[in-house]
Amino acid sequence: MRSSLYPAQELKRRTLSWAVRLRVNPRLIRVQKMRRKWGSCSTKGIITLASDLADEDRRFQDFVIAHELLHMRVPNHGRLFKALMTAHVPGWRQLENRRD
Ligand SMILES: [Zn+2]
Repeated sequence: MRSSLYPAQELKRRTLSWAVRLRVNPRLIRVQKMRRKWGSCSTKGIITLASDLADEDRRFQDFVIAHELLHMRVPNHGRLFKALMTAHVPGWRQLENRRD
């Protein structure tokens, strides 16, 4: 559900507030068409989100945003990563199947 007239800006705004919360500092946040994924995180700190994410519910948006931002702290999907996800996005496992 679109929550603003400028969905890409809204996604970026939410990503910034999540970055503060997760204590990471992305160099660039961009929103663009992605064919196969909801988001990505580059080793250089560039967070990319799929523009289609704007049409998803906020809970799913938060899940994708937190997932990509946490990769700035933990590059893999190991135990630490999962523990951080659980701390910040309770119930995230239920959303996992939709992620990519
Ligand atoms: Zn990941």
